[in-house]
Amino acid sequence: MNDVKNKIVGSLLGGAVGDALGYQIEFKRNIKEKEFTKYENDKGIISDDTQMTLFTANALIWRETRGSMRGIAMMPVDAIYEGYLDWLDTQNNTNLHDHKISWIKNIDELNVSRAPGNTCLSALSSGKKGTIEQPINDSKGCGGIMRVAPIGLYMKNPEYAGKLAAEASAITHGHPLGIIPSYVFSTMLYFIVNENLNIEEALNKAMNQYKEKFNIYDNEVNEYFINIVDKAIKLSKANISDIDAISKLGEGWVAEEAFAIAIYSCSKYESSFEDAIICAINHDGDSDSTGSIAGNIMGALLGYDAIPKYYINNLELKDVIIEIAEDLSTPIPVSEYNANNDEYWLSKYLKCERDSSIKKK
Ligand SMILES: [Mg+2]
Repeated sequence: MNDVKNKIVGSLLGGAVGDALGYQIEFKRNIKEKEFTKYENDKGIISDDTQMTLFTANALIWRETRGSMRGIAMMPVDAIYEGYLDWLDTQNNTNLHDHKISWIKNIDELNVSRAPGNTCLSALSSGKKGTIEQPINDSKGCGGIMRVAPIGLYMKNPEYAGKLAAEASAITHGHPLGIIPSYVFSTMLYFIVNENLNIEEALNKAMNQYKEKFNIYDNEVNEYFINIVDKAIKLSKANISDIDAISKLGEGWVAEEAFAIAIYSCSKYESSFEDAIICAINHDGDSDSTGSIAGNIMGALLGYDAIPKYYINNLELKDVIIEIAEDLSTPIPVSEYNANNDEYWLSKYLKCERDSSIKKK
């Protein structure tokens, strides 16, 4: 794997590992520092965070394949919305969404309910697509941020990465604080992957870009977000236990807290994937989402090779996650006059069927 591919595969797998470690304790309380470090029964079960992340990635690749090979244009956020409607079908089995765009929808293990967020379910079931300009609700739950990592890994421009992640979150979450953290998270991943920046450098650059380019909300909201991110970095350098530090940032059920807890964990344990994730999940809050976001960041920073093999080998759907991540990091062949009918991309991302006998060229 080249360096960028290693980081992209690392980020999606890392997020799934953090999700699986956190999901088993999402609703447990009185958790002690470093109490949970392994999967229950050595089986890493992923939750809605990883499911929706995979549907985000599938939608981006679907859109690009259609554009490159068929010349059909679509706004990226509209493709992502279609992808989330596919995910909704996997949750309620109603098959309401006949415009199927995701081959992963056919995977049995993804057609399961893993404590999906009510806000995501109700917003997507409404038949309306939320936007930044026309908020669908007033939610700032972390369901908007925990699924957008593929956008930062995939986009070729940091401003697009931030803006599209914000738009993707606004599909289901209307409160500014359900949207702004996604902008910074996605932009940060872009800088880690493409400019090899460390956690604090990437965060600072992403925050500066947000202040300069995405200043669409009022000062009070902006200040609130800037303060909680600053607090996370300061706590990561203070002499304080992880449990105490995290309790000062919140529980992570809302997006800005989930992001801040992930930033605290990644900044404090920047050289160890394992230490950062164990820190990010061991608290009484939304452990799978804080673990997922921290895992996306650490996987992008340190790459696939830095994730302990125990976590990968025992992870549900690891092959699908790696496959989607590799596709996300592979340039799609461009065709003129529909002349290029590369079967690999056509079957998976236009017909939405995976035929494992067809190999990537
Ligand atoms: Mg979850």
